[in-house]
Amino acid sequence: MSNAKNILILPGDGIGPEIVAQAERVLSKVAERHNLEFNLDHALVGGAAIDATGGPLPDDTLAKAKAADAVLLGAVGGTKWDGLEMAKRPEKGLLGLRANLGLFGNLRPAILYPQLASASSLKPEIVAGLDILIVRELTGGIYFGQPRGERINDQGEREGYNTYVYSESEIKRIGRVAFEAARKRDKRLCSVDKANVLEVTVLWRNIMNDLAKEYPDVELTHMYVDNAAMQLVRAPKQFDVIVTGNMFGDILSDCAAMLTGSIGMLPSASLNEAGQGMYEPIHGSAPDIAGKGVANPLATILSVAMMLRYSLAEPDAADTIERAVSRVLDQGLRTADIAGSDEQSVSTEAMGDAVVAAL
Ligand code: ATP
Ligand code: MG
Repeated sequence: MSNAKNILILPGDGIGPEIVAQAERVLSKVAERHNLEFNLDHALVGGAAIDATGGPLPDDTLAKAKAADAVLLGAVGGTKWDGLEMAKRPEKGLLGLRANLGLFGNLRPAILYPQLASASSLKPEIVAGLDILIVRELTGGIYFGQPRGERINDQGEREGYNTYVYSESEIKRIGRVAFEAARKRDKRLCSVDKANVLEVTVLWRNIMNDLAKEYPDVELTHMYVDNAAMQLVRAPKQFDVIVTGNMFGDILSDCAAMLTGSIGMLPSASLNEAGQGMYEPIHGSAPDIAGKGVANPLATILSVAMMLRYSLAEPDAADTIERAVSRVLDQGLRTADIAGSDEQSVSTEAMGDAVVAAL
């Protein structure tokens, strides 16, 4: 019997199919180089699924995702489906996958490739060598807490409300993901909260301190979220791994992304308790450039590297891909989003060709 791992590929909409096609070529090439065997399957999600089946997350897609060891996703959404009501839109397909697979742990590395230093929004000396990992809790916190809604208060005025809640088990499991990640890196973990104001984050801080006893080799520090935002743009290299809740992580990871120059370079992983994961670029479906063959495929290609590292236990193959990406940047290849005004840019496919060749 083959013990080949199962990978489900969900190209999605807009530039999704274009960038995923290049990532698949890279996956095949790295499999060949490292003698790995994978079973690849494809399914529909987002607008492509709406057009074919009437809904953004067909049962068949969800069943295949649950059975897979890892899912590689392009992007979903586009102007074509903008008129649909909220519950029927392409984005619901993505949220449905996250919720149904229990993908609570979102890993977003922010790495500045030295070749792209001039694309950062900060001065080169502040970002040179930047390599941080943000671990964001993805299925709890204020984005999901109950009760929530809009009501009329005692003064007869409308008020909106949400609930910021985290249970001990939710905090522990994201904490463990972060400590494990820090252990494999520079062994420094900064937990970000608002423990001077919010009780839920006092519990968060206390549980992180408890966990730290199990990871004596990792240095744990704490920071309030307002200060963390400031420190990220003042001196980002002080961080190695950051762990934080859903909303703070949403904000801080976008902030960190800008330090590295282009949204087209940044991969992500979303993991569940079984180590199953969904891997996708942090950018969206980029309707403005879809179909033109100019999108940067590197964020998706680097997502394949994360997939090999976190869900398929093939860290060497992951390293190989990351080195190949670095090499094509050394060679001066640039898609339009990362090309300087005086530099020529190459197509999505030419960038894919170059990475495959570098492998
Ligand atoms: P979403 O809501 O799905 O996150 P969005 O509307 O926030 O989508 P993106 O689709 O991420 O935005 O696009 C934002 C901008 O970045 C667009 O101008 C788009 O062309 C550009 N962009 C996004 N991804 C890439 C890429 N891989 N290569 C080049 N440019 C990109
Ligand atoms: Mg967006």
